[in-house]
Amino acid sequence: MNPVVLVHGGGAGNISHDRIERVRQGMMKAATVGYTLLQEGCSAVDAVEAAVVILEDSPEFNAGCGSVLNTKGEVEMDASIMNGKDLSTGAVSAVRCIANPIKLARLVMEKTPHCFLTGQGAAEFAAHMGVPEIPAEQLITERSKKRLEKEKHEKGAQKPDCRKNLGTVGAVALDSKGNVAYATSTGGITNKMVGRVGDSPCVGSGGYADNNIGAISTTGHGESILKVNLARLTLFHVEQGKTVDEAAEVALGYMKTKLKGLGGVILVDKAGNWAAKWSSDSMPWAAAKDGKLHCGVNQDTNITDLP
Ligand code: ASP
Repeated sequence: MNPVVLVHGGGAGNISHDRIERVRQGMMKAATVGYTLLQEGCSAVDAVEAAVVILEDSPEFNAGCGSVLNTKGEVEMDASIMNGKDLSTGAVSAVRCIANPIKLARLVMEKTPHCFLTGQGAAEFAAHMGVPEIPAEQLITERSKKRLEKEKHEKGAQKPDCRKNLGTVGAVALDSKGNVAYATSTGGITNKMVGRVGDSPCVGSGGYADNNIGAISTTGHGESILKVNLARLTLFHVEQGKTVDEAAEVALGYMKTKLKGLGGVILVDKAGNWAAKWSSDSMPWAAAKDGKLHCGVNQDTNITDLP
């Protein structure tokens, strides 16, 4: 099986000119790191975790150290991961003061009998597993502060505009043994209520992986994605015989028609066919397969050779 990895940097408005290159570099680096691991024989789970860690560590993306702020100006992060081999999954929500929520989600998947830990319990588990606690300010950027100010100024507190300010990170992979996996990580939406949990940590909404079908990671308006179970809905259409492109279009179209909800998906099916689709204005993405790296930011797509 030829390995495949895809990453996304969140469904959003067009990326501003000054950020395009940094976003493109982030996408390309994450996909390359994931692909290199797959070529070395690592698992799809290893690849999606490593790709998402790169993006959580970049302040350009709404995850980890670039997370958007809730209405009190704090960072609360959600993440989930799934192994398509046995449907094992791990998720965390409303976690604070850790650099890489996706690593904690993987620990939930592999070291507990549960699928999902939240808030205080997730924090205690992180401490128990030796995950370093970092100062809350380390996750806050000038950009996220400005976004919150702007949002409050425009809309007033407690009224997050869920149709803009989107941006989350995710990865999907197919490894050489035919196993698929997904990982999704986010700071959520700017000016969200304290304790608000979006789609990203919810398996079936923020992502899904099943070796019998494929793997998907989603981004966009979390409340809409939750209501239609966007990840599982898209894979249902793949199961029913649609191509990955058709399945993504039908599922995103349904969410838009039914709820006016906008978003984006990256997916790979069990045969290695892949798609990156969005109904939002844009969604930065990259895909690595057969020695080629495809990358799209705003309207530009480029293809380069992988090292
Ligand atoms: N889906 C995320 C959330 O609602 C946000 C995003 O994808 O940008 O928390």
